[in-house]
Amino acid sequence: THFGFESVSLGEKQGLVNSVFERVASRYDVMNDVMSGGLHRLWKNALINELGLPRGARRFRLLDVAGGTGDIGLRALKRGGPGTHVTLFDINPAMLEVGRGRSEKEGYADRVEVVEGTAESLPFASGSFEAVTISFGLRNVPRMDLALAEMCRVLVPGGRFFCLEFSTVDVPGLDRIYDAYSFKAIPRLGQLIAGDGEPYRYLVESIRRFPPPDDLADMMRKAGFSRVSYTPFTAGVAALHSGWRL
Ligand code: SAM
Repeated sequence: THFGFESVSLGEKQGLVNSVFERVASRYDVMNDVMSGGLHRLWKNALINELGLPRGARRFRLLDVAGGTGDIGLRALKRGGPGTHVTLFDINPAMLEVGRGRSEKEGYADRVEVVEGTAESLPFASGSFEAVTISFGLRNVPRMDLALAEMCRVLVPGGRFFCLEFSTVDVPGLDRIYDAYSFKAIPRLGQLIAGDGEPYRYLVESIRRFPPPDDLADMMRKAGFSRVSYTPFTAGVAALHSGWRL
């Protein structure tokens, strides 16, 4: 079976995405480690290093869009000073529930706000955040152009945006190994560990359909970001894009 992703409308796409993350929410963190061989941790730490989090009490409000189980938000709270506040924003209540639980368990509940909604229309005033992140989230959003414009709007002037996402493997030879790994091994691992291969077929397909890094950089410029740049990680398996609201 197959999600038939090519033929679904934008509205239907969100429905498919939601059912995928509802099914995997409780196993999401484990699956991330297994499927990326732990690499997602290195990429996420690299993003945190770029955030410029204050050590001291200076106010720093981070909006983590598609924040899911809280990986980026919690890392930011651990790294930043007591003025660091995180808004964990996601469309999926099951993912947010895991994020809320982790925030409480790790003692950050008073500096985490959990908000449910779609990235295509953010329920925040313009200029509300010093930084906005979206990590392995943008490819799930049906209308990426709307989401990018919204993430720019809610930044303070001088604020910075980061998008961590799977990208285009650009090393000859490795691209074929990567294809074999993702199309065959990933759904099988999903079947084995999570008892369900289907969500992982969706995952692999959505990675293939995501724009190559230069195209994403162009989309960011069109959405209003300045000084757009990106860094490929692990031969292009992932990339970190950044832009400023000036
Ligand atoms: N950011 C986390 C991380 O890096 O581990 C979670 C990423 S997870 C692969 C993708 C997340 O995007 C899911 O939690 C999903 O619910 C969320 N999502 C999908 N569509 C969304 C939308 N339209 N608006 C906001 N979040 C969305």
